[in-house]
Amino acid sequence: MKIHIKNKYAQKYKKGYPLIEKKAFVAQNTKIEEGSIIDLYDEQDHFVARGYYGIQNKGHGWVLTLNPQETIHFEFFKEKIGTAIQKRVGLFDESLTNAYRLFNGEGDGIGGLTIDFYNGFYLVTWYSLGIYAFKEFIIESLEKVTNVSGIYEKKRFKSATQMQETKDYVLGEKAPEPLIVKENGVNFATYLDDGPMVGFFLDQRDVRKTLMDKYASGKTVLNTFSYTGAFSVFAALAGAKTTSVDLANRSLAKTQEQFSINGIDSSRQTIIVEDVFKYFKYATRKHLLFDVVILDPPSFARSKKKTFSVANNYVELLQDAIAVTKPGGMIIASTNYSGFNMKKFQRFVAAAFKTTPYTYRIREEFLLPDDFLVHSEFPEGNYLKVVFIEKGK
Ligand code: SAH
Repeated sequence: MKIHIKNKYAQKYKKGYPLIEKKAFVAQNTKIEEGSIIDLYDEQDHFVARGYYGIQNKGHGWVLTLNPQETIHFEFFKEKIGTAIQKRVGLFDESLTNAYRLFNGEGDGIGGLTIDFYNGFYLVTWYSLGIYAFKEFIIESLEKVTNVSGIYEKKRFKSATQMQETKDYVLGEKAPEPLIVKENGVNFATYLDDGPMVGFFLDQRDVRKTLMDKYASGKTVLNTFSYTGAFSVFAALAGAKTTSVDLANRSLAKTQEQFSINGIDSSRQTIIVEDVFKYFKYATRKHLLFDVVILDPPSFARSKKKTFSVANNYVELLQDAIAVTKPGGMIIASTNYSGFNMKKFQRFVAAAFKTTPYTYRIREEFLLPDDFLVHSEFPEGNYLKVVFIEKGK
């Protein structure tokens, strides 16, 4: 299908910008079906790029090729997935790490699609109905180019079928529940078919390792927004005494499970099911101080009393953390919000410390790890930002 785009956008796509945005389209009346292959043409009717149409919160599809001769069929997907696998060869020692991202959307040439490897199993995540239309090609490619044990999927788009289907199993062997994966020698229980999340965020791998290797030994660690306690497990293995705080009831049993499969006595660690903001008030009132405080909030969160958004409230969150961090201690601040970059995130840190008598130094900085390939023309795809901030004495 031929779509005309405004000349002022054509240049950007010619340079390789991968996200198809509705605002680039010259007004048109025909409805485009999700999963259609669309050819973008400029106002002089010159070919610009070929992509697929699929509605995500980010945009309306992704460019797949700048070559008018290249057709989008099975071979296209097979080649892209094969190349992605080649790029990960040698990244990990599989005896220590067997969970990682195998295909990272536009960074590997197909936006709206990710594939994660979990100890022999593959988890495909579809971010639009449009990319889901290519499911057969993509699953078959994966079977052809890997030694698949089993394939699971997550649909991150709304559709009538999503409401009806509850199973995420696609084909092959079924994964054990839990499926134990390893990351830098540490065990983690994952569930490939238990709701929208598997329990483990692969993109924080380097952060967890740095915490374990350099900053946790003999320390007290407050892990806020702790979810299944991944940071707590790595810290406890280094000999830290951890306190994990999360609002979700399930976080208690989930965190205990992660401790137990790593031989950590969870009765000696603290797990609290509570609103983090309430916990900060309590800790401040009781003058509790921690050596390390971890902040990893969701981009948006609604609790009973307030709405938190990373864009509007991160400075306050940092202020809360500063108040309960020992002088000389460390705050690990993280966000996966793609709406601002590392520079702006560090301005939040400066703004928060400005309201206190303390100085600070940034000791470590992390963006996405190597297996999360980023597209050179789409730096906003590198959404992760983590800083280790040492609070002055
Ligand atoms: N740090 C985690 C991931 C955090 S996901 C990890 O490394 O695995 C975000 C978590 O924040 C969710 O588990 C959610 O339940 C929790 N959450 C959201 N709002 C909260 C609040 N106000 N207080 C405590 N936890 C909250």
